[in-house]
Amino acid sequence: MSDVLRFGETTMSDVPQVGGKNASLGEMVSGLASVGVRVPDGFATTADAHRGFLAHGDLGSRIRSALRPVDLSDVRELARVAAEIRAWVEQQPFPSSLEQSIRSSYEELLAEQPDPERVTWAVRSSATAEDLPDASFAGQQETFLNISGIDNLLDAIRKVFASLYTDRAIVYRAQHGFREDDVAISAGVQLMVRSDVGASGVMFTVDTESGFDQVVFITSAYGLGETVVQGTVNPDEFYVYKPSLRAGKPSILRREVGTKAVALRYGEGSGTDDSTILTDVPASERARFSITDEQVEELARSALTIEAHYGRAMDIEWALDGIDGRLYIVQARPETVVARRDGTVVRRYTLREHGGEVLATGRAVGERIGAGRVRVMHDLAQMHLFQTGDVLVADRTDPDWEPIMRRASAIVTDSGGRTCHAAIVARELGIPAVVGTETGTHALTDGADVTVCCAEGDDGVVYRGIRDFTIDETPLDVLPDLPVDLMLNVGVPDQAFALAELPNHGVGLARLEFIVGSTIGIHPRALLEFDTLPEPLKTQIAERTAAYPTPRDYFVRRLAEGISTIAAAFAPHPVIVRMSDFKTNEYATLLGGEAFEPHEENPMLGWRGAARYTTPSFRGCFDLECEALRHVRDLMGLTNVKIMIPFVRTVDEAAAVVALLAENGLRRGDNGLEIVMMCEIPSNALLADAFLDHFDGFSIGSNDLTQLTLGVDRDSAAVASAFDERNPAVLALLELAIDACNRRGAYIGICGQGPSDHPELAEWLLARGIRSMSLNADAIAGTWMRLASAATAHA
Ligand code: PEP
Ligand code: MG
Repeated sequence: MSDVLRFGETTMSDVPQVGGKNASLGEMVSGLASVGVRVPDGFATTADAHRGFLAHGDLGSRIRSALRPVDLSDVRELARVAAEIRAWVEQQPFPSSLEQSIRSSYEELLAEQPDPERVTWAVRSSATAEDLPDASFAGQQETFLNISGIDNLLDAIRKVFASLYTDRAIVYRAQHGFREDDVAISAGVQLMVRSDVGASGVMFTVDTESGFDQVVFITSAYGLGETVVQGTVNPDEFYVYKPSLRAGKPSILRREVGTKAVALRYGEGSGTDDSTILTDVPASERARFSITDEQVEELARSALTIEAHYGRAMDIEWALDGIDGRLYIVQARPETVVARRDGTVVRRYTLREHGGEVLATGRAVGERIGAGRVRVMHDLAQMHLFQTGDVLVADRTDPDWEPIMRRASAIVTDSGGRTCHAAIVARELGIPAVVGTETGTHALTDGADVTVCCAEGDDGVVYRGIRDFTIDETPLDVLPDLPVDLMLNVGVPDQAFALAELPNHGVGLARLEFIVGSTIGIHPRALLEFDTLPEPLKTQIAERTAAYPTPRDYFVRRLAEGISTIAAAFAPHPVIVRMSDFKTNEYATLLGGEAFEPHEENPMLGWRGAARYTTPSFRGCFDLECEALRHVRDLMGLTNVKIMIPFVRTVDEAAAVVALLAENGLRRGDNGLEIVMMCEIPSNALLADAFLDHFDGFSIGSNDLTQLTLGVDRDSAAVASAFDERNPAVLALLELAIDACNRRGAYIGICGQGPSDHPELAEWLLARGIRSMSLNADAIAGTWMRLASAATAHA
């Protein structure tokens, strides 16, 4: 075998010679360049070359003799001997044939570059036993960036070889039964992409938290990618929907701006400590996205090609060259965590008590909850203080931290995004982690009890004290068929991918105001009338919306992101999106809201639902909602979205709101659009036929219907005991509504709380001929089984 192989000459079958990382780069250079995946070229030294290097001057036997007498538990002695060995390796000349091969590959590649003067190199280690589980840890994961000139390059390769002899790598090999003779390492030498003046990040071809496989998840930050991988920055995040992307449609489901406080740029040196430097990113650049939508989609297309080539979910590093403006793939390896999940059961963690003191928040990793005593660790010298079951709190982690991460009940870091080292290891170990809290190491006190919750969506929360939580398991392989559709009520979009794992027939209620509350938080009129706003509100809103072209776009795009995320998670099942139903008191709490909302004594009975949309002062806000829906249905192609109108008091209002939707380009029947009405006011059931003349069907809102039938304020604790959906008066109205719809062949479902809380009401509704019930996530498995046996009993 030759000493050096060009990437173009290697494929995955060369793992024993060039290691997993280099083999995968070779596979892409040789197999994917022709289909548009750009991978910077390079070459790799082989395992044979490494063996030759060790044999040369008897270096290998000197190393073995030096290591043999060392007691590995004697940390000082180990450190001394390891340092000595590394120095030998770094000083050892290459055998002349190896040096010649490296020099000629270097010259050859350089000669192929348009501007050889400016070329710099990345030199990385690639363990040649990476097909063995965990074996990648047998070799240190060294990377040397911004190397220029052949002499620096040769030194960097020797440093890669020397990295086999860090204290940690020596101990690891001894513990795992690797013989020193078995170990070989390959150095990958790759042309550097100038992402130091561009951007870079990581992408996965599945959602790493939920395992949802119809998205590409991308992280991105300014500068070299090490900051994203090591968790020094909180990167931007994007989700891209594969079916829309394949169809050539706009496909970005979600965007989140990260803080991206620092960037790793080129320094003065080459191959020395100052060859890269961390610099601060100016506030104006932090506030916007580090890559454009077009670049996000181009990356996702490359990810799809790579996934298809390997035939499995992949974990990919990418870089944007700030000089030539192009995107490159710099690493690709199989994704391992989602691939190992058990697909036969869904496990949901739920906190039993809500509220409580929040000590820190960040990005949630995984969907679990963990609790224990805080152990704040500033460096690994404190490792002996860490007890199994403690909550590990640190600024960030690197591979040296793994032994204690394994023993933690949860992990909390100050920096890092979802693809940083801490996040990847936590996910792999199944330990809940909250990364990028910014304040964790200060806000959490050593020795205090905390609960770390990743079960509430994107935001991971650290609560004071040990809190009670439940773990529900839903087996997926035993659910019988039902004569009714069971749908889910989905609140905030960031739970959608996880909820879609539950058995379901779609979403019966996605409340648009929940999406506005959780992802926008600003009153739509304050965004529309931004230019006339007083200070400091104007500056506050300018800051919150800085990543989007205008404040108006902020509302429309964020709303479209929320709706499309839910729609994509459940496609091809229907997703019924209800237009906004904030009451005046709720709207007033949005940023800038107070100035635009009248004070009402009874907001429940006030300016809400359909009546609001047709009022001139709200009309512009309704147009924004319609624009977001058109984007999702007509441009992204998520036509599984249906529209629902809440709180329609009169038939005239019904006619007016349907006309208004049509004026906004949302006409019943166009592009398969169905428009459903909430049946939640007694008038709706009493005059069902007249209302149904304007709609495709009803979804019963048993919450408002009960409130208005019994005259019980749903928000009042004083009369709470009188609130009961099973009251015969309510049931009488339910019957009217169900019968009217069934007579006309119109859709009839229910999305109020009733059947989730009262299984016998669910059975009653089934018997009355309802077509679908939309339930809370925690009620779906139990109700499913109960209705299945009820249906069998009736059969
Ligand atoms: C209802 O009234 O039953 C309903 C589902 O709507 P909301 O709870 O949002 O008023
Ligand atoms: Mg209602």
